Amino acid sequence: MTKTLLVTGGSRGIGAATATLAAQAGYAVALSYRRDAAAAAEVVRGIEAVGGRALAVRADVGVEADVARLFEAVRVELGPLSALVNNAGTLERQGRVDELDAARLTRILTTNVIGSFLCAGAAVRAMSMRYGGAGGVIVNVSSRAAVLGSGGEYVDYAASKGAVDTLTVGLAREVAAEGIRVCGVRPGVIDTDIHALGGEPGRVTRVAPGIPLGRGGTAHEVAEAIVWLLSPGASYVTGTLLDVSGGR
Ligand code: NAP
Repeated sequence: MTKTLLVTGGSRGIGAATATLAAQAGYAVALSYRRDAAAAAEVVRGIEAVGGRALAVRADVGVEADVARLFEAVRVELGPLSALVNNAGTLERQGRVDELDAARLTRILTTNVIGSFLCAGAAVRAMSMRYGGAGGVIVNVSSRAAVLGSGGEYVDYAASKGAVDTLTVGLAREVAAEGIRVCGVRPGVIDTDIHALGGEPGRVTRVAPGIPLGRGGTAHEVAEAIVWLLSPGASYVTGTLLDVSGGR
């Protein structure tokens, strides 16, 4: 039977690369996005052009009603969920902690932390044997920032990813006996649009000399790690945080 995967934030970057690679591996793929419908439609077209099955749904992961609508659309259009990649994430302009206000902190934590929790909870209700499901896999996309702290750039973002790591470890233990594995990937500096949100589109080039492998990573390289964690080849891996960071 075809497996169904939901990738949040699948319209660009790491999410788009993951959706595309997973479709090549045989998954029917749903991808969510918040704003860029054209980019999401392009990812769907790319998957369908090579014979895959894909669905794009506009849904803000930080809005509970959107998350409920998203999971219902996936169930109705593609069938029972087999896996979730909790990828949607954001950051804002580089700065210091003493410059952050509550409105910005709320925006970052709402997408990165509350969004990850809401989608993980919905995925458990869809996949857990406790709820009559067949089990499945959740991969949370964190960041090496959770460990490095992102001082002078975005400590709020880094702290949100620390929370995502704790979600991975705790949820993995909570649902292991219900047929669900939960893992995390912690990308390093990856060449995507996200750095423009921080106000430095060329950040990868600036940081590259300090990365042991001497370059930023690609979205595809992160997708390879995610799709492996989703696969039966990773059947004994749960609660694990996999760094995909060129040694940084
Ligand atoms: P990106 O190119 O900026 O793409 C972000 C994606 O998330 C887009 O599809 C965006 O959709 C979606 N999104 C953002 N906020 C959302 C929300 N509230 N609800 C639903 N969708 C939302 O970012 P990326 O670099 O691929 O990052 C993907 C993940 O990897 C993020 O969790 C990020 O923190 C993590 N990461 C990235 C790097 C890196 O260096 N690139 C490093 C470590 C970790 P719209 O365009 O429609 O808004």
